[in-house]
Amino acid sequence: MSNFHAIWCDHRESSETHDDILPYCYKQIHGVKLAATDADKFPPGMWVYAISAAHPDALTSGVKTENDQQFDGIEMVTEHHDGTGWSERKFRLTSDAARSLAAALIRAADIQQGLTR
Ligand SMILES: [Zn+2]
Repeated sequence: MSNFHAIWCDHRESSETHDDILPYCYKQIHGVKLAATDADKFPPGMWVYAISAAHPDALTSGVKTENDQQFDGIEMVTEHHDGTGWSERKFRLTSDAARSLAAALIRAADIQQGLTR
């Protein structure tokens, strides 16, 4: 049987389709805790996903999503809990931008911990 998911898609093994809420292939990579602000009732978090526009046959709707190139790259999702419920915000960036950001994060962390200037 054909499998229309990206080779690394979390749905590839089950062959489940992607519904309209998340109409693209994705793989959850890693999550980190974020520093809580005064508005946070629980520790906020950020999750990182690899994402890719999905073949129509990998979608529950069976129809290619409009402007689906917006799903090609990396997605970061922040989750905050304000006491009544979780809210999330998504940030999407190209893989090149993600590498650049990762390098900047490492450099900033090295500077902050005195490992380099
Ligand atoms: Zn998929």
